[in-house]
Amino acid sequence: MFDIKSVAVIGFGCAGFSAARAVRQADPKRVIDIYSDTDEAPYNPMLTTYYVSGKINENTMFPLGDLETIKKELRINILCSTPVKRLRARERVLELDGGAERQYDDIVIATGAGAVIPPIKNLPERGIYTMRTASDARRLERALDGGVKSAVVVGAQMVGIKVVELLVKRGIRTLLCDMEKQMFPVSAYERTAAVIAARLEGKGVEVRLGAAITGVCDVGDCLRASFSDGSAARADLIVFCSGIRPNLAFIDRGELDVGVGIKTDLHMRANVPHIYAAGDCCETLNVLTGENAYIGLWANSAMQGRVAGSNIAGIPDSYQGSLIHNITHYMDTDFISVGDIKADGERVFWRSRGGGWQLEATISDGKIAALNILDNAHVAGPVKNALLHRAAHPEQPISVHARLLLSGSGVPDGIIKKLGGEGA
Ligand SMILES: Cc1cc2nc3c(=O)[nH]c(=O)nc-3n(C[C@H](O)[C@H](O)[C@H](O)COP(=O)(O)OP(=O)(O)OC[C@H]3O[C@@H](n4cnc5c(N)ncnc54)[C@H](O)[C@@H]3O)c2cc1C
Repeated sequence: MFDIKSVAVIGFGCAGFSAARAVRQADPKRVIDIYSDTDEAPYNPMLTTYYVSGKINENTMFPLGDLETIKKELRINILCSTPVKRLRARERVLELDGGAERQYDDIVIATGAGAVIPPIKNLPERGIYTMRTASDARRLERALDGGVKSAVVVGAQMVGIKVVELLVKRGIRTLLCDMEKQMFPVSAYERTAAVIAARLEGKGVEVRLGAAITGVCDVGDCLRASFSDGSAARADLIVFCSGIRPNLAFIDRGELDVGVGIKTDLHMRANVPHIYAAGDCCETLNVLTGENAYIGLWANSAMQGRVAGSNIAGIPDSYQGSLIHNITHYMDTDFISVGDIKADGERVFWRSRGGGWQLEATISDGKIAALNILDNAHVAGPVKNALLHRAAHPEQPISVHARLLLSGSGVPDGIIKKLGGEGA
């Protein structure tokens, strides 16, 4: 079809960038076209709250460089503000605005995910915010500079809590609500969640759980939100941190196998030949369960993009899989969650001598299936690495070095054993 092979990368975040770079590193000739729905360099969504809180400047949200430099260094074509409207996967054809069509040898879908606002009728045009993209961050920052006094944050999970933190830092009266009855409903055990909620209240945040937002109206000087528990609240603005959804409106689900995201194998291949997916738009192996799962994390996106790009360029590479984990630092608290807290098994709870930090875990078949840690940030890396090691080499104990790291971080011997530290 083409003398020189061509690849299209749809979406230019961490996954798209990593895919393009891997192709270029392995193949100096290949035509690489990037389709981006923005005119910006790839931003890091996890830095958006740091920008709004004033911890970093605007440029720092773009850690992979500016567009001109990326274009020159990778020798790629970046088609800005050119969203792909439809993908005909089996034909490897992209459809663009205005009816244009382009065919490629290989295609990487790297469209990430977008913030979801629950279906609320007649949502006012002003005062409604989300937190995902660089432009979301700028918009909220501008609003806060305009003298906001009160806010509602919807969604008591990682993004919501970071938004609460930055609002409180500005002295804004903040209500955090969630339809679920506890904080971090997908990643915290009830006991840990209760401590987290009590601490937030101690810092002056109103926490309203079991309260889904059902309506919002503009009452002139502010917004009025109403909740499923019959309560209401007035606020200058509402930030929806109520979840994300993979950006996949342009694909045909009759062609591509999709669960929450596009299902991929360890080479980041979708079920249609020459179609790859990487990052927050796809599902990959969860090493703790052996099944595909949706695990949207920055480092995963980078690795998956690299694997897709290398394979396209003819350098065999495979993704090792990942595990669900969440490491959040906010308002003097470190909350770490690893694995699926809903997994069946025996629950153990442990608090360090002196009460400096605590750990709660689920043990299934003699192994750690999930775990929550409060107030010990040092332990996150060693625990995650031990679990990854155990999943990859079930018969092999973790190294002496890993064991020492765990015990040096204060992890009790019984837990180290369950993490694969024999003789601990
Ligand atoms: C507030 C916040 C905090 C976070 N904290 C952490 C953290 O602590 N640790 C961590 O590991 N991860 C964290 N994450 C998640 C992490 O940022 C993501 O996993 C990662 O950035 C995903 O990268 P991606 O390239 O897959 O997607 P994205 O960064 O979403 O990039 C995809 C791009 O594709 C574009 N696009 C979509 N549709 C189309 C189309 N049809 N055509 C062309 N372009 C399209 C999108 O607009 C976007 O620009 C956080 C995220 C947020 C929002």
